[in-house]
Amino acid sequence: MLKSMQYDRVTRFDLARTLVGRGRYWTTAYLVDGIMVDTGCAYTARELVKALGGAPLARIGNTHSHEDHIGANGAFQRGRSGLEILSHPLALPVLADPRRTQPLHPYRRVFWGWPEASQGKPISDGAVIETERYHFQAVHTPGHSPDHLCLYEPDQGWLFTGDLFVGGQERALRRDFDIWQIIASLKKIAALPASRLFPASARVRNNPQQELAAKVSYLEELGKRVLDLRRQGQSVRGIVHAVCGGPMPIEFITLGHFARQWLVLSYLRPKDASQQAAA
Ligand SMILES: [Zn+2]
Repeated sequence: MLKSMQYDRVTRFDLARTLVGRGRYWTTAYLVDGIMVDTGCAYTARELVKALGGAPLARIGNTHSHEDHIGANGAFQRGRSGLEILSHPLALPVLADPRRTQPLHPYRRVFWGWPEASQGKPISDGAVIETERYHFQAVHTPGHSPDHLCLYEPDQGWLFTGDLFVGGQERALRRDFDIWQIIASLKKIAALPASRLFPASARVRNNPQQELAAKVSYLEELGKRVLDLRRQGQSVRGIVHAVCGGPMPIEFITLGHFARQWLVLSYLRPKDASQQAAA
């Protein structure tokens, strides 16, 4: 299932596998001035290629290597000679061989599927991607994944945040996410004077500074409560019940890969370890 919407010169594609007549677990791709930011999941690759038709596409910029962001990389690369795919260096082995390097849990196979392999070129923090009209700065923002990048266009104030910022208030985390790195990365993008924020699978935000600051405050306050309870001798299970509330459907759907306990345990990991991992 594919829906598209226009924001000035940015085209947004919302993409989801259709199951029992409905799109499930939507993901997002953006097309602007010949660059596509992310390509959705494998199940919607053909639809996205068809939707673009003959529209100019010189390169793809992947915010990170999760399967719901690189799903049409291979299809686009096969169909358009010379198409560049730009990703953080840590993402390149995943793009090249997703099945070997990124084993998928059952829920990920059901909702997003295995991406076709593609060949990426490395871009790191501070690199600039020039298009005909714009220039996009790559900002390394680990935490959601070690290879996560945001793309920022300073003249337009556009900020493409991938899965780093999708709004909401976390009560659970995926097992491999790093909450201290996520907070540091959110602070990094909150310092940019962005006027419009284009997230993956969430609504576009105008003047996003207030929401970014609120998100950082929420996560820092939650971390403070977790650490206070730990100092008082509370068990992980006790902290989960005190700060995260009751069971969540996502814990069952993902068979525990996304769970309240991983959020608490991520806060209990030393910040220094997170920072060393990010270096
Ligand atoms: Zn992701």
